[in-house]
Amino acid sequence: MHENPSNHPGLFTAHLVFSFAFYLVFSRIREQVCTTICPYGRLQGVLLDKNSLIVAYDYVRGEKRGKLKAKESRKEAGKGDCIDCNQCVNVCPMGIDIRNGTQMECTNCTACIDACNFMMRNVGLQEGLIRMDSEEGIANSKPFKITARIVVYTSVLLVLIGFIFALLLMRTDIETSILRTPGVSFQELPDNKVSNLYNIKMINKTSKEIKIKIKILSEYGEIKLVGKEPVIPSQGTAETAAFIILSKADITKVKTKIKTKIKIGVYSDDKELETLTTSFIGPLN
Ligand code: SF4
Ligand code: SF4
Repeated sequence: MHENPSNHPGLFTAHLVFSFAFYLVFSRIREQVCTTICPYGRLQGVLLDKNSLIVAYDYVRGEKRGKLKAKESRKEAGKGDCIDCNQCVNVCPMGIDIRNGTQMECTNCTACIDACNFMMRNVGLQEGLIRMDSEEGIANSKPFKITARIVVYTSVLLVLIGFIFALLLMRTDIETSILRTPGVSFQELPDNKVSNLYNIKMINKTSKEIKIKIKILSEYGEIKLVGKEPVIPSQGTAETAAFIILSKADITKVKTKIKTKIKIGVYSDDKELETLTTSFIGPLN
């Protein structure tokens, strides 16, 4: 913020509304957001199957759960390894009991794994009562294997990552739009020439100031800027206007309209940053 909020009442109000909404999310309705608003849990339900790696409680080893008693053989007492200490429930940020099976609310934070391992170490039992495993792994002791579903998900993910990288690689330092000034027609000049007025808007996506030169790349026509050559501030915008002038002989006839495509190059220090195409209008004959 560089200016007084009263200079930007709309933006300031939006800022306040968003700040208040996110304050509410983090202070009052965090769990409700996770369970009812965020689509992650629902997506999990759709994407998982019995072979998916999840945070899972080994009920085969853990049940029948029972409190730890001194000098008692758990095997003889018919008890499993779960000492029913409730630590996995106490540490769960979502307030769920993972021993009831996979639940939509689980964010796979693995806090219950750490808590259970800590308890297992302290009572001299084997760690991993709660662990990353599949339902098949728990029920039938089947090792994790790569399924067709995993291959498809991974491929989709790789395609999306590739798409993001392609967008990053193709990202230009500046973004320019050049449009004929609305409501202004062409002007006929002496020497059989015609001019069109354009508005040029530029966005600088870098953190350094960029001095811009605009040139015509088509083999015909010339460009005359209104005012000085533009300088776009770092991460800022700049606007300018320019006349493009063509001789009537160069104007191409397209059907009944006379419309000519002009190629324009945007340069900085003789380096071409962007190439644009705009249309030019002229008289009918
Ligand atoms: S992984 Fe995290 S959210 Fe899921 S049951 Fe364990 S502690 Fe709770
Ligand atoms: S932390 Fe482990 S031993 Fe304790 S209740 Fe949970 S599953 Fe059972």
